[in-house]
Amino acid sequence: MPIYEYICLNCDNEFEELVFSQDEPVPCPSCRSENTEKIMSACRARVKGGPNLDALQGSSCGSGKG
Ligand SMILES: [Zn+2]
Repeated sequence: MPIYEYICLNCDNEFEELVFSQDEPVPCPSCRSENTEKIMSACRARVKGGPNLDALQGSSCGSGKG
């Protein structure tokens, strides 16, 4: 089963969540906010020291889906 890392943009809590439908928002287990964002560890490693943070999160990390 796919487990993704998420970060809550509301309280900066990082957590892992089983995700069955990537279209649905994942609520933060700490504050229950749905203002969360998926973290892709592969990308995360790349982002380290990378200048194009926005570009990476915007498209390069999408692995061509959609
Ligand atoms: Zn939260």
